[in-house]
Amino acid sequence: NVDSALFKAKSSGRGGFAFYDQEQTEYARQRVELIAGMRHAIENGELRVHYQPLHCLVGSRMIGVEALVRWQHPQRGLVPPGEFIPVAEDSGMISAIDAWVLEHACRQMVTWRAAGHSLEFVAVNVSSRLFSRGELDQRVSQVLQATGLPAACLELEVTESAVMDDPDQAQALLERLRALGVRLAIDDFGTGYSSLARLKRLPVHKLKLDQSFVAGLPHDKDDLAITRAVIALAHSMDLKVLAEGVERAEQLEHLRRLGCDYVQGYFIGRPVSHEELKLS
Ligand code: C2E
Ligand code: MG
Ligand code: MG
Ligand code: MG
Repeated sequence: NVDSALFKAKSSGRGGFAFYDQEQTEYARQRVELIAGMRHAIENGELRVHYQPLHCLVGSRMIGVEALVRWQHPQRGLVPPGEFIPVAEDSGMISAIDAWVLEHACRQMVTWRAAGHSLEFVAVNVSSRLFSRGELDQRVSQVLQATGLPAACLELEVTESAVMDDPDQAQALLERLRALGVRLAIDDFGTGYSSLARLKRLPVHKLKLDQSFVAGLPHDKDDLAITRAVIALAHSMDLKVLAEGVERAEQLEHLRRLGCDYVQGYFIGRPVSHEELKLS
């Protein structure tokens, strides 16, 4: 009896393993395909940048835009970053993608400025992978030189978790970036366990409150408490706060009442191509 139970366990274990193995192979195959596809996309001009308005609550105007990458796939259509950035990050392709987006967004900003639009800055996301390599400041300074964009017209968004992965290195890199004159924002704030002592020393200008906390406003008591606390914390350190993911008028009204500085979200404007973006 014991023997037969053991045998069953073993055989189902092996069976399970074989199945797992097959899944792994399929996963690996798709991953290799995706990586090759991304390389092709960069070389053949299939990447696009969409721009989403960043709105100032005081004075009610668009002060900047966030650049968000998309992949115009010949078969799959417009692919959102969530479907390829994670694989790009652990395969190393992210460096090439982020470099492409950075240069593209800076060139677009130069064009907008030349046309007399009053945007103050374009915000570009930087992957934690690139961030942890520490050479970002050199790349940024090359792109600013090549495009002629003033450093103050570029904002870099780094996630809270990227900073907290290796706070000492992050701090040094952020200081070098700040010395170049670019603006710095902590993205997805509230999701990454910042040490407050550390946060206080970071040379950043802005916290972007993660959209998961904005989602429950104004009725969810926890979200309301967190939003209020992050705004107070930021202001006490002379930082600005932007709330992400604003989808309804009542959220906007509440954020205004709580003293939030900036907002971003579908209610204000979705990410769109540069042709579709309405600028003044
Ligand atoms: P993120 O930097 O936090 O960007 C904000 C995301 O929230 C965008 O998703 C935007 O479309 C979405 N969003 C904006 N307003 C609303 C709203 O009202 N409701 C909801 N539900 N969502 C809203 P997207 O474009 O799919 O990008 C997802 C993430 O991919 C970004 O999050 C960022 O982490 C990453 N990403 C995008 N572009 C790049 C890039 O060029 N480089 C790197 N490394 N990461 C990028
Ligand atoms: Mg961002
Ligand atoms: Mg964000
Ligand atoms: Mg986010």
